[in-house]
Amino acid sequence: MRIVLLGPPGSGKGTQAALLKDRIKVPHISTGDLLRSAVADETPLGRQARSFMDRGELVPDELVLGLIEERLGAADVQPGFILDGYPRNLAQARALDELLERLEQPVEKALELRVDEEQIIQRLARRAEEEGRSDDTEEVVRNRLKVYREQTAPVSEHYREHGLLAEIDGIGSIEDINQRLADALG
Ligand code: AMP
Repeated sequence: MRIVLLGPPGSGKGTQAALLKDRIKVPHISTGDLLRSAVADETPLGRQARSFMDRGELVPDELVLGLIEERLGAADVQPGFILDGYPRNLAQARALDELLERLEQPVEKALELRVDEEQIIQRLARRAEEEGRSDDTEEVVRNRLKVYREQTAPVSEHYREHGLLAEIDGIGSIEDINQRLADALG
């Protein structure tokens, strides 16, 4: 099963993807995690990506596309994948369509977690305390939400137009939300 998981920062994508991957036995691929580990390892990509991430901006498309191309070409992706954090704008959505068309493995479902902004700001403030992520400060969170509204929200429309979008209520217990996602996969 090839799935794209959409939703604003703090909507629970990472948590839900980790649970869903155990249910449906496909790898969870998070571009945020891949980028954070490149930053921690101080790779050339990590060094280029860091300042964008610290400001809550998107890392340039070509850098992330290289990363995702390499990851989607790996052997463990044969049974499918859950993409978390990619695509983040329409150019990335189109690049992904092209890449997967070449691999003859198109996206089968786009699941969008819907959570309102007030909830998100509260959740991210909590995550900042618990995990200490450098991009969870209030100012950067506001920018990440703005980037989401302006650049990422149109990605949902892209999948809606292709008849692949399912919108999921992202409020409730982790288990309930995970069940909603599983139900949407049929
Ligand atoms: P996330 O963990 O998905 O919230 O991502 C954390 C940060 O990594 C984002 O705020 C961006 O700076 C960067 N990032 C993650 N995925 C992408 C992507 N697909 N395109 C551009 N930047 C990304």
